[in-house]
Amino acid sequence: MADVHNTEQRRKNMRAIKSRDTSIEIQVRRILWHAGYRYRLNVKALPGKPDIYLPKYRAVIQINGCLWHGHNCPQFVLPKTRTEFWRNKIKDNVRRDLKSVAALHDKGLRLLVIWECALQGKARLDNRYTYNLLNRWLSSTELLANIDKQGLSSTTLYEFKSQINPSLTES
Ligand SMILES: [Zn+2]
Repeated sequence: MADVHNTEQRRKNMRAIKSRDTSIEIQVRRILWHAGYRYRLNVKALPGKPDIYLPKYRAVIQINGCLWHGHNCPQFVLPKTRTEFWRNKIKDNVRRDLKSVAALHDKGLRLLVIWECALQGKARLDNRYTYNLLNRWLSSTELLANIDKQGLSSTTLYEFKSQINPSLTES
């Protein structure tokens, strides 16, 4: 019986995490839409089925929850119960993410990753500032960049992994 309860609790946890990811995604979509950017959502034909695709800019924006996608930041805290289950689950996500980043890159698409901690919590960036960063990146030619609470920084395919919590990328 105890195990059934755990399974149910685990499902609840996962749903909670996923719906939080969805709410920051909606926040970003709103900012883009009001600024006049037009996009497509969850395009299945692109690697990793990215959250937001802006065909006119050949750009993809991916909004990553810090726990679910293993950000190397204070918001990445594995649950105290079933820690190994979670670690493996998130390791799988990270593996998939890194593959998609490389595949998008190969297709010549630009990618911006926005981490949850940039948009949620006490130290979050305000919407106006986030809009400026989005605007700046979209009108640039930078291939790969990310937004965290330090703001916008460009990165390379090789350096991309350094944003991930090291415990998730060791083999
Ligand atoms: Zn984070």
